[in-house]
Amino acid sequence: MTVWEIVMIQMKNTDKKIAIIRNRKRQSEQVYQDLKQKLKQNGFILTPKNPDIVISVGGDGMLLSAFHMYEEQLDRVRFVGVHTGHLGFYTDYRDFELDKLVENLKLDTGAQVSYPILNVKITFENGDTRTIRALNEATIKRSDRTMVADVIINRVHFERFRGDGISVSTPTGSTAYNKSLGGAVLHPTIEALQVTEIASLNNRVYRTLGSSVIVPKKDKIELVPTRSDYHTIAVDNQTFSFKNIVRIEYQIDNHKIHFVASPSHTSFWNRVRDSFIGECKE
Ligand code: NAP
Ligand code: MN
Repeated sequence: MTVWEIVMIQMKNTDKKIAIIRNRKRQSEQVYQDLKQKLKQNGFILTPKNPDIVISVGGDGMLLSAFHMYEEQLDRVRFVGVHTGHLGFYTDYRDFELDKLVENLKLDTGAQVSYPILNVKITFENGDTRTIRALNEATIKRSDRTMVADVIINRVHFERFRGDGISVSTPTGSTAYNKSLGGAVLHPTIEALQVTEIASLNNRVYRTLGSSVIVPKKDKIELVPTRSDYHTIAVDNQTFSFKNIVRIEYQIDNHKIHFVASPSHTSFWNRVRDSFIGECKE
């Protein structure tokens, strides 16, 4: 690298605006302070307003919060996750790797890795609509009784569901709640949504497919609850309670989430193995 190139890169850092989001844990606060100092020393601008890069310090849950904080700016923001515990699915760095993170950001040329997100459109009896985006999944349950809802996939009336509820997850969300529900783990380059049942009632009268289904990008998933009372809709780490829902439409959103591409962005299969299986024993 020539001296001129080094100067160019350093000048670029001073233009790069970085926001750091952390949770309230003491460890995250410590990591936040260290990281802030290291970034400032290297000429980065730290600001929560219109950042180019958002760094979350905590776990995957913290990255979910960072995503929702900046979900209106997805096209211009790239995310980086620092994990204060074990390595997560949205986090490329551990808390002792801050120097490596700063070095990678100094060499950053704007390269990104992008993943699909979920768009949930809820229509109410009075015609109002509400649109919510999810990075992991959206689940719907009826507040205190069995949920009954028609499931429509690509305009085909698929089944009448009875049970606790239904989860619709993104590919990166497939390793979260979806996996606990018995859903498949989906590689995040597959642009598809996964519909997974939550404790469906199956007997001689009531019938659902039973297995989760993976729906391609072009197909819309619709849910029509048969009752108008309260339903709980959980989107990532937020929970909403809605009445008088006529219809819920699920599709892959027009926007994607972008992560800073770096040598630390390890392979998806490595992450799945390390999180759920650990070392292979003979
Ligand atoms: P939480 O209760 O602290 O998180 C539950 C666990 O899910 C944490 O270990 C979290 O990792 C992990 N996680 C989050 N996103 C993941 C992903 N994409 N792949 C693999 N694991 C993931 O709550 P939270 O941290 O705010 O996370 C909210 C998420 O929890 C929801 O989106 C839902 O997927 C999940 N959840 C799971 C169940 C279940 O499995 N029965 C029930 C409710 C919600 P960190 O420790 O790194 O944060
Ligand atoms: Mn968490």
